Amino acid sequence: MICPVCKCDMIVVEYHNIELDYCTTCKGVWFDSGELELLLESHGLEEAKLFLDNILDYPEALSSEKKRKCPICSHKMKKATIGEQLKILIDICSEEHGLWFDGGEVTQLTRHLAGEHPPKQDSREQVISFLEEVFEAPE
Ligand SMILES: [Zn+2]
Ligand SMILES: [Zn+2]
Repeated sequence: MICPVCKCDMIVVEYHNIELDYCTTCKGVWFDSGELELLLESHGLEEAKLFLDNILDYPEALSSEKKRKCPICSHKMKKATIGEQLKILIDICSEEHGLWFDGGEVTQLTRHLAGEHPPKQDSREQVISFLEEVFEAPE
């Protein structure tokens, strides 16, 4: 798949049967629809999964950031802001093909989830450290 930001080929990162597409140039990450949910589900993070289910219903965010095209259907994606204070701007395909995180945004999100939910759930910690591992480790 081609990165919606810099048009480079993305690499596939696999972890516990979940595949993500990762751009080594801009560090952006594409989650196919269901993959992020699957990952959270496999770790028993129902709460975090709910949070993702709601993402599609979020209103379009007002942003000067350029619209990105879905790497699957090449329709323009919707911008949505997640996080009360952080305001992470992610791109979502309205055809539900998946979601796009710019470089660094996944880390912001995982930090955010960790902050909202104090470290008492081990499984959540696992997902957070997994995401950090994947997206901060050079391939
Ligand atoms: Zn890129
Ligand atoms: Zn799409």
